Amino acid sequence: MKNKNYIIILILLLVQSFTFAQKTNDNVDSDYLKCYHNNYNAARQYFIENSNEILQKYENSKLIKIDVPSKIDNNLTIDILYIPQEGHKNKLMILSSGVHGVEGHVGSAIQLMFLEKFLNENLIRKTGVLFIHSINPYGYKYNRRVSENNIDLNRNSTTSTELYNTINEGYPKVSEFINPQKRVNTKSLSNRLFTIRAIMQIIRKSMPVLRQAILQGQYQFEKGVYFGGKKQEPQIISLSPIIDSICKPYNTIFEMDLHTGYGEKGKLHFFPNPTDSITKNNLENIFYGYKIDWGDSDDFYTVTGDFVDFVGQLNKDKIYLPMTFEYGTLNSQTTKGSLESIKRVILENQGTHYGFKTEKDKAKVKKDFLEMYYPNSKDWKNKIMKDTEELYKKIIPRFLNSNF
Ligand SMILES: [Zn+2]
Repeated sequence: MKNKNYIIILILLLVQSFTFAQKTNDNVDSDYLKCYHNNYNAARQYFIENSNEILQKYENSKLIKIDVPSKIDNNLTIDILYIPQEGHKNKLMILSSGVHGVEGHVGSAIQLMFLEKFLNENLIRKTGVLFIHSINPYGYKYNRRVSENNIDLNRNSTTSTELYNTINEGYPKVSEFINPQKRVNTKSLSNRLFTIRAIMQIIRKSMPVLRQAILQGQYQFEKGVYFGGKKQEPQIISLSPIIDSICKPYNTIFEMDLHTGYGEKGKLHFFPNPTDSITKNNLENIFYGYKIDWGDSDDFYTVTGDFVDFVGQLNKDKIYLPMTFEYGTLNSQTTKGSLESIKRVILENQGTHYGFKTEKDKAKVKKDFLEMYYPNSKDWKNKIMKDTEELYKKIIPRFLNSNF
């Protein structure tokens, strides 16, 4: 009798998992999945091939290649596709990807979807479009968030060198906890007790204080996480005059910088830095019906040296609408998800600088890190693409028809 019950349960489970598998496949749109390429070289090639078709079609469009210097790889480029607005230059949309290298897998896919589904003659009559593909190609290719110099480009982007004198007072107090100076052993006692150790830190300092100290960016600890550098990285130096000259003729610039890893799993979050009330109002109108995280939630933090702010510095005399897109992966809005996220960031950085005890440790840390920024799930990939397409259908017309 007992055995019979087990068999029935087993059959039920099999039927259930089969139904789930069927359902999953039915829900996934292969057109969306085609936009994802699992490595930098393939994604770049696809972006360039698509761009070459655009060059044939649209007069004065340009494809610009920036070589990014490297000690280990002479084939790292930022690729820029610019399609000017036809006639009078009024509005420009910018889509930038891969400021955080590993997040380029998703950013590139979103850019390709935009190219295929939204770039057409009607659009170009009303706005110019600028795609900046893979701002940190080293990080994209080698699945790191930072540049080859361990620099977080979203803490390094600025037109003024003053940024690098910023003192993040909270950071030294947590540096020992977040930057262990030894080989990674995922099974060590301190790693197994990570959550407890983190909770002790939270009790001592409170979660918002801790989050701000870690994530704001820092300019003192070169091997530490969220290091913003001591000077402009080559990517930012090269991009500066190009963005400046492309933006010059336009009155209104709408910049969308594509990121992953922050927020609720499978959800697209809008995450701007604080701004003036006019810009806030304009963005609220464009994103009407969507929630923008303006900094009133508990899990909010501000950053210094971020890329959208840098593009704003280059366009001071214009109407500038900056928006950071964050595709959530690990539920980092919860304490549990947030601790898991920071743990993965810590271990990846630690292993890069101090090595791993075993190959198994290395493989696990790298796999967990990639999963945090580029989830393997087809459902996740499908959902964020679908949601983004629906979003663009709403926000592009609003941007085009607005009178700013
Ligand atoms: Zn990011």
